[in-house]
Amino acid sequence: MNQKELFNIERNDKVGRYAVAKENLRAGDIIFSEKPFAYGPKSDSPCICVGCYNFVDCTNLCKTCSWPVCNAACENLPSHREFECQVFSKAGVKFQAVEDPTEVCLQYECLTPLRVLLSKEKHPKRWDEEISMMEAHNDLRKNNPIWEFNQHNVVEYLRGPCKLDRFSEDLIHTVCGILEINAFEARTNSGQLIRCLFPKLAILSHNCVSNIHHAVKYIGTGDDDDCCVTVRAAIDIPKGSQLNSSYTYSLWPTLVRREFLKESKYFDCTCERCSDKTELGTHSGTLKCQKCDNGVILSTEPLSDICEWKCTHCEFKTNAVAVRKVFAAIQTEIDNVDCTIGPEGIEARETIYRKYRSVLHPKNSYMTILRSVLVQLYGKTEGYTLEDLPDLLLERKVELCQQLLEVLDIIEPGCSRIRGMTLYELHGPLMILARHQYQNDAINKDQFKKELKKAINTLEEAVKILKQEPETLPEGQLAVMAAEAFKQLEENFDLLVENA
Ligand SMILES: [Zn+2]
Ligand SMILES: [Zn+2]
Ligand SMILES: [Zn+2]
Ligand SMILES: [Zn+2]
Repeated sequence: MNQKELFNIERNDKVGRYAVAKENLRAGDIIFSEKPFAYGPKSDSPCICVGCYNFVDCTNLCKTCSWPVCNAACENLPSHREFECQVFSKAGVKFQAVEDPTEVCLQYECLTPLRVLLSKEKHPKRWDEEISMMEAHNDLRKNNPIWEFNQHNVVEYLRGPCKLDRFSEDLIHTVCGILEINAFEARTNSGQLIRCLFPKLAILSHNCVSNIHHAVKYIGTGDDDDCCVTVRAAIDIPKGSQLNSSYTYSLWPTLVRREFLKESKYFDCTCERCSDKTELGTHSGTLKCQKCDNGVILSTEPLSDICEWKCTHCEFKTNAVAVRKVFAAIQTEIDNVDCTIGPEGIEARETIYRKYRSVLHPKNSYMTILRSVLVQLYGKTEGYTLEDLPDLLLERKVELCQQLLEVLDIIEPGCSRIRGMTLYELHGPLMILARHQYQNDAINKDQFKKELKKAINTLEEAVKILKQEPETLPEGQLAVMAAEAFKQLEENFDLLVENA
């Protein structure tokens, strides 16, 4: 936590505070690390343990406050015991039993705002210096349904039953707004999503192409060292350049990203990617023209959500509203198969892929999203393990990875988690295909060596990226395994060639 920080905070009237690189940064350089000001359940949470955030059936309750926990160890975690546990037990606010613990439980809405408020009292200096100036946009949020929702589920709950009228309505709304706009998601070791408030990370401006990589290390101790974030340069960043993180899902097309940013973060993104008709050549939003053979349909004003969209070749026209509807329909189809795994999962996604191949540009976001799941399924699914796959499907996996990487190189450049995972997925089929080709005399020994080297280099790049992930998360564990595999391949290269 004590290494020097490689950024400066600057300020202008238009965007407020932002961060710039203090010196030339190389991809992978640590820019800063920090502890969260507070962290806790996300909004719309189902019933989870207030200690470790795992799903619970609500039969075990904290002996002090009677809120759901897994066991005694969870109820004693400082993040619970020293925060809401004291408030709830003192005020006698018990958890109200619910019918279905897997459904959204509104009683959880107050938890993270409450932790921020209590943290404000515990760390007033940190609040003043790092949190109080954060954007909450109370003015913009006031007419918004979320405001009413917070008023009911957070403000009135805390000031009423929880007897916390020492916190004003305004302050509580401000805290809710600060969380909505500035909190970052993190994953616990068992994969639950929580939200964390990182003051420095929140200073970084948004850009739909991020140049930093951040990784949150959840340990599960519930103390000060839990959920620290490490922010690194994802690509080489020249001294004086802005540091940008992305508050949205980079795989989405501009229409969807900008709508999300407007609705949840209250600003209109005008970044280079959003301003460009082809989204920097990625064609994330582009459709194929159905009226002619060669045309593609592009927005006439990328920063508008109502403008005309036109074919580049013929007279065909449509508009942003209609395109947005097409995207929503495809997203729904993809969401509907979200939980389908195994061979059916592959088939279901390949079916959607085939269905929209004639409608969407090959690099369109939804093709990319489907690829990002398919590359994970091919090779790891029962009946579809790498050893099972015929060359045709190995080639399919390679093709999907390469098409995905072409887009990721632009929208998730450098040391991004998804690039690391995709490179890892690519190396396996490359290796097996090379061996098959050699065995079938399609390539000679030298060509085989070259192909093998290519696969090993791909693995090496994956390791370089994934080793930035905390070892507590699956990507970090994969990095350890991949590093070992890389070492073995390097050491046994000649043997591998001879035994092929
Ligand atoms: Zn627990
Ligand atoms: Zn408790
Ligand atoms: Zn943008
Ligand atoms: Zn056309």
